[in-house]
Amino acid sequence: MSVANQIEPTRTAPVAGAVIRVENAHKYYELGESRVHALRGLSVEIHRGEFVAIMGASGSGKSTFMNILGCLDRLSSGAYFFEGIDVSKHDKRALALIRNEKIGFVFQGFNLLARTTALENIELPTLYTKIAKVEREKRAADALAMVGLADRAAHFPSQMSGGQQQRVAIARALVNHPSILLADEPTGNLDSRTSVEIMDILQKLNNGALTIILVTHEHDIAQFARRILVFRDGTIRKDEPVLNRPKAADVLKSLPTLED
Ligand code: ADP
Ligand code: MG
Repeated sequence: MSVANQIEPTRTAPVAGAVIRVENAHKYYELGESRVHALRGLSVEIHRGEFVAIMGASGSGKSTFMNILGCLDRLSSGAYFFEGIDVSKHDKRALALIRNEKIGFVFQGFNLLARTTALENIELPTLYTKIAKVEREKRAADALAMVGLADRAAHFPSQMSGGQQQRVAIARALVNHPSILLADEPTGNLDSRTSVEIMDILQKLNNGALTIILVTHEHDIAQFARRILVFRDGTIRKDEPVLNRPKAADVLKSLPTLED
């Protein structure tokens, strides 16, 4: 099945320079008497239109880093510039504003509301914006169509496959036209063909200029990105471009379709 044929370039504000710049970042978690040093002097720049995969052993700081990028948590020291603005000093309220307007999130477990239809799930992030109701509904319908699920608008999460739920989650992440998409192990709960279908959607979105940062354990999945960062002990151990990157759409042609 070909998904995401309808994907159009995502509109992003033109901003020169790095969309993300992290400088000498440290993150400590205080746990009673003990202290975990989760990020240890990490520095990196990510530019608009990049597609970055983050790999590394469990506990190496990947999720901590994603939480910082997503303005869900703050650094203990160091600086985080998002679209040229130092957000490391922002308070919770200011971070929440950036999060809702500028950042889309996709998680391993989809995180859809169970008693809410696909379309309503997608519309949810627009409720906190000033966008008019009619426009919100249009955006949600467009986002659903973009991930190839226009015919599933009234379905509840339990009535959809894992791959379909993740596509709804991607549509929800994009409904506010964010600057970046952050995905923490988005294919972790999916079979290999469905994983490649999700990567096909992400590649098409990235070809439309969306900046994507993805965490994955799987080498095969990371190869669909344009650049791979390997984390180790809270810093970046390796930072390399992906050479001979496969097209997920081509890989799909060689994979058998599983029976439902
Ligand atoms: P990864 O995503 O690469 O598996 P994490 O960023 O989740 O790594 O974790 C990095 C380190 O920080 C680990 O040692 C982990 O146990 C610790 N850690 C993560 N989150 C918390 C937290 N909320 N409180 C205390 N320690 C944490
Ligand atoms: Mg993690």
